[in-house]
Amino acid sequence: MKLDVAVVGTGTAGSATALFLARAGHHVTLYERVPDPQPLGAGIMLQPSGMAVLEALGLREQVVSRGERIEALVAETTGGRRVLDLSYADLQAGLYGVGLHRGVLFDALFQSAKKQLGITLKLGVDVEDLAWHRDGHWLVEAKTGRRFGPHQLVVVANGARSSLRDDTSQYKTVDRYPFGALWAVVPDPEHRFTGRLYQVVRGTKTMIGLLPTGLGPTGSTPLVSMFYSLKASELEAFRQRDFGEWKAHVLEAVPSSGPVLDQLDGHDSLLFADYHDVVMWPWNVGRVVYVGDSAHATSPQLGQGANLALVDAHTLAHALGRGESIEDGLYLYSRLRRSHLAWYQFVTRWLTPFFQSDFWPLGIARDVAMGLMCRLPVLRGEMVAMMAGISLGPFRRWSPPST
Ligand SMILES: Cc1cc2nc3c(=O)[nH]c(=O)nc-3n(C[C@H](O)[C@H](O)[C@H](O)COP(=O)(O)OP(=O)(O)OC[C@H]3O[C@@H](n4cnc5c(N)ncnc54)[C@H](O)[C@@H]3O)c2cc1C
Repeated sequence: MKLDVAVVGTGTAGSATALFLARAGHHVTLYERVPDPQPLGAGIMLQPSGMAVLEALGLREQVVSRGERIEALVAETTGGRRVLDLSYADLQAGLYGVGLHRGVLFDALFQSAKKQLGITLKLGVDVEDLAWHRDGHWLVEAKTGRRFGPHQLVVVANGARSSLRDDTSQYKTVDRYPFGALWAVVPDPEHRFTGRLYQVVRGTKTMIGLLPTGLGPTGSTPLVSMFYSLKASELEAFRQRDFGEWKAHVLEAVPSSGPVLDQLDGHDSLLFADYHDVVMWPWNVGRVVYVGDSAHATSPQLGQGANLALVDAHTLAHALGRGESIEDGLYLYSRLRRSHLAWYQFVTRWLTPFFQSDFWPLGIARDVAMGLMCRLPVLRGEMVAMMAGISLGPFRRWSPPST
């Protein structure tokens, strides 16, 4: 079955889905709101799960070569107590993550999609509605009122704020986390930040992260990303706060952040990202399917969103290739993704308040319990599998679909 497919959004989920589907012989129209998409963004962690999908697309080497190899996640309290110390190698020798500028992943996927036979790009189309056509076909309607299509299948991949979730009868809940993060990416010419994602916590109100971010989409100077946890309701107070005083507070908590702070010259050098929690199942309704953050956004506490989006894309192409009808393939997709996504959403929702919340006793529980958990080999293995994006629950592991 060769389909005419609309994919909405050229983020990680959308571009990867378009590539997999076009390579399976479908004709894909890829709609993107931004007229001239650019490789922007913060540092993200690419996990072994995401790398396996990039391998299937033939893009792994290109992406990984512009990232920084990450061997471990280390989290400490401001007093120096180890809260987390997890090495990929504890699960499997040679396993690693990659600290990456999000623009590198975007560029690799988007440039491939541009060149891919079978993909038509429609840039600058802000899709506002999905309109039922006939015989199971859908039209894609832009904010301007212009309609595109008809398409036999619509893949919604337009991120956590998707308004297209309201265009189908699908059950869903969409909540906004009270906490988000300020972030900045700066050069690290002396390459001081290497090998580990380093986080410093104090109670549940302070969490500062430093992620070596590789080379970025262009250039040859290493980059480092800094994250600073902030409650969305306190963003205005941060903007009013003396910037020098804020830098002194960060430096006191994380003395090694000095070279990053030296390059921040005002509130505008940091951008704020808020987080959403989207719950939906199944992710298909009729001939519409939701993938990536539009389907299952979470807080980035476990650093999995882009990786899960890549796995979605691969699994969707696999499921469509096996279903006897479009609806059948889409339902198979929802079934195949259920345990992986439900598990990561459950753990993220459970874990986030221990790092970002107003309930300070959780910070004490975290400082006492997590260090101990890391020292118990069985639990440690499960925690590393979680970090690597390949856990399906206790002692169960994800592996890529065999296409
Ligand atoms: C601070 C922070 C840190 C993170 N760290 C990590 C990490 O370490 N590892 C990790 O894996 N993930 C991380 N994530 C999560 C990750 O960035 C997301 O999960 C991932 O980008 C989701 O991809 P997506 O394609 O579903 O959505 P998006 O990347 O949001 O892409 C959506 C696309 O749709 C387009 N679009 C939106 N609306 C429309 C419309 N109406 N019409 C047409 N196009 C539209 C957008 O312009 C965009 O191109 C982090 C997120 C944040 C905020």
